[in-house]
Amino acid sequence: MLKALELNGFKSFADRTRLEFPSGITAVVGPNGSGKSNVVDAIKWVLGSQSAKALRGSEMTDVIFSGSRSRKQANAAEVTLTFDNSARILDVDEEEVHVTRRVLRSGEAEYLLNREVCRLRDIREIFAGIGVTTGAYSIIEQGKVDALLQSSAKERRLIFEEAAGVSRFKLKRQEATRRLERIEQNLLRLSDIVEELE
Ligand code: ATP
Repeated sequence: MLKALELNGFKSFADRTRLEFPSGITAVVGPNGSGKSNVVDAIKWVLGSQSAKALRGSEMTDVIFSGSRSRKQANAAEVTLTFDNSARILDVDEEEVHVTRRVLRSGEAEYLLNREVCRLRDIREIFAGIGVTTGAYSIIEQGKVDALLQSSAKERRLIFEEAAGVSRFKLKRQEATRRLERIEQNLLRLSDIVEELE
């Protein structure tokens, strides 16, 4: 569903760089420190990661290209994700959905949905419904596989339930059971009243 990623001034990507993801599996390869993880950071950033630490920095503006021996630092970082929405999986009535996040050195920042300024909440809402949030399992990073292998059978079950979307239904079942209990109590009370009246 993610069709393309465009980075400009984000971390080690000083120049505008466009990565296309055709259907199937895409592998990003390169030597250590060449910026592979920065690609994943970029995706997490656009999807609303608010913590600089989650992106391996300490300030939000740390994602802006900080310059190298031959290049001066960038004034802004901008990343755009392009999603194929022909199946209308995202609740936006467009064939393609572009989500952009931009931050300036001054600290000013904004989100854009199909090139129009929007709130972070709007972005979150669009993606939460389909399980693509920063905390979800759509992005499995270094260390997560180890954590999964070392977790107990019970923890592992919870992870699979979350990934399979079962947790959502479990919550709904709990809510329904609670509602049923309340209705049963109301019914009991009603039958007491009816008995008293008879
Ligand atoms: P590894 O295999 O070691 O995990 P990697 O290919 O995933 O490496 P990254 O961690 O994505 O590499 O990239 C790190 C590189 O990005 C470092 O060289 C670092 O200097 C550079 N980098 C990170 N933030 C910035 C920034 N704001 N400006 C310029 N370069 C940056």
